Amino acid sequence: AKAALPAWSSLPPLRRARVMFRFNELILAHTDELAELITHEHGKTIEDAKGDILRGREVVEFACGIPHLMRGDFTEDVGSGVDAYSIRQSVGVCTGITPFNFPAMIPLWMFPLAIACGNTFILKPSERDPSCPFRLVELAHEAGVPEGVINMVNGDKEAVDALLTHPDVDAVSFVGSTPVASYIYATAAEHGKRVQALGGAKNHMVVMPDADLDQGCMAVSVAVAVGDDTGDALVEKLTPKIQELKIGPGTADDIEMGPVITKQAQDRILNLIDQGVADGATLAVDGRGLKLQGYEDGYFMGGTLFDHVTEDMSIYTEEVFGPVLVIVRASDYETALDMVNRNEYGNGTAIFTKDGDAARDFAERVQIGMVGVNVPIPVPVAYHSFGGWKRS
Ligand code: NAD
Repeated sequence: AKAALPAWSSLPPLRRARVMFRFNELILAHTDELAELITHEHGKTIEDAKGDILRGREVVEFACGIPHLMRGDFTEDVGSGVDAYSIRQSVGVCTGITPFNFPAMIPLWMFPLAIACGNTFILKPSERDPSCPFRLVELAHEAGVPEGVINMVNGDKEAVDALLTHPDVDAVSFVGSTPVASYIYATAAEHGKRVQALGGAKNHMVVMPDADLDQGCMAVSVAVAVGDDTGDALVEKLTPKIQELKIGPGTADDIEMGPVITKQAQDRILNLIDQGVADGATLAVDGRGLKLQGYEDGYFMGGTLFDHVTEDMSIYTEEVFGPVLVIVRASDYETALDMVNRNEYGNGTAIFTKDGDAARDFAERVQIGMVGVNVPIPVPVAYHSFGGWKRS
C-alpha cells in the first residue's frame, strides 16, 4: 500500500473516477454472485443481501463524482496582492476494520471513497464473513484499481493490532461493537493515526399515540410506547407479525429471516432472553426453542417480543444483536424523550407520529446521531454523513 501510494495519489481525480465508474458496473453485474456469498456465510436472505450490496454500491456511485468533491477553496486578496488557497490531498495509507453484519455495505462505505481520494487502502473485514469483501476487492482490481492500492488481510485481533501500530498506516476507520471501537480509537490515536471508530447501538423508536402502527419495524431494538393504550395496541399488532415470520435458510424462497451468525451469538441471545424473563419482563412472543426440520443444527431463532421492560433490565441495557424487540412504556412524550437521551448509545432513533410539532421537537432535542420521522431505520444515503453519538 505504501509503495503504490505516490503513483495513485498523483493520478488526476478524473482518472480515478473512471475506475469507480467501472467498479460500479462490475458490482452491479455480479450482484447475484455477491449476494450468494453473503447469504452462505452471514445467513441473511438473498433479498437482504442484495440490499446490503445496493447500499454499498450507492457509495461507489457517489465516489464517481470525486473530481467535483475534491475541488479546493480560493480567496483573492487575503492581504494586498496576496491570494490564498486550500487543496484536498490524500491522507496516505488507510485501513478499514469492519463488522460481520453488513459484509458488502460497510467495506464499501470505506474503501471506494478512500481510494477515489488518492489514498491506498488495507481492508480487514470480519473473519466471520470475508468472502464477499474479498470478491469486492477482486472486482476493484478488475475495474482497474492498480496492485497495492486496495489490499485485503484476513484475521482477527492479531491482524488488527498489526495495522493499528504499523508506522506506515496513516488513518484507521472502524465499525463494530463499542468495546472494540474504544480500543481501536485509543490504540490508533496513541500511535499517531487519524481514526474514526463507530460502535454499537441500542436504537429506540418512540411510538406516539397517533402513530400509524402499520409502519412498525423489527429492525429497531427498543420501542418506547407513549401511553398504555399505545403499548397494548403495539403488542396486539406485532404479536401475529412476529409469530408468522418465515424463518429458514436465507437461500430458500419466501424466507423473511435467516439464522444468527454463530452458535456463540445464539447462546448469548438465548441467555439474554432468559434473563429478561427472570427480571420480570412480559414475554409476549417467545422465539426460543425453534427447531427447523432438516436444519436441526442451524442457528435459527424465532422472533421474540418483550413488553413492560424497564431500564434496569439487561434485556434493555445490553445490545442483544438478535431478533428481539423490547417494548418500554412511557407515560408521556417528555418521559420517552428523556429515556432515549439517557441511553448510553446514540446511533439512530425514530419517532412515529402524525403530529408535525412532536416530530420537529424530537428531531431537535433528541441526543442521537441519526433521526427518522416515520422511517424505521434512519440510515442516510451516501451523500449525507453517517455517524452515531455518545458510545455509538
Ligand atoms: P466486533 O466489534 O466483534 O468486530 C468488528 C471488527 O473488529 C472485526 O473485523 C473483528 O475482527 C475486529 N475485532 C474483534 N475483536 C477485536 C479486538 N479485541 N481487537 C481488535 N479487533 C477486534 O463486531 P461484530 O460482532 O462483527 O459486529 C457487530 C457490532 O457492530 C454490533 O455491536 C453493532 O452494533 C456494530 N455495528 C455498528 C454499526 C454502526 O454504524 N455504528 C454498523 C454495523 C454494526
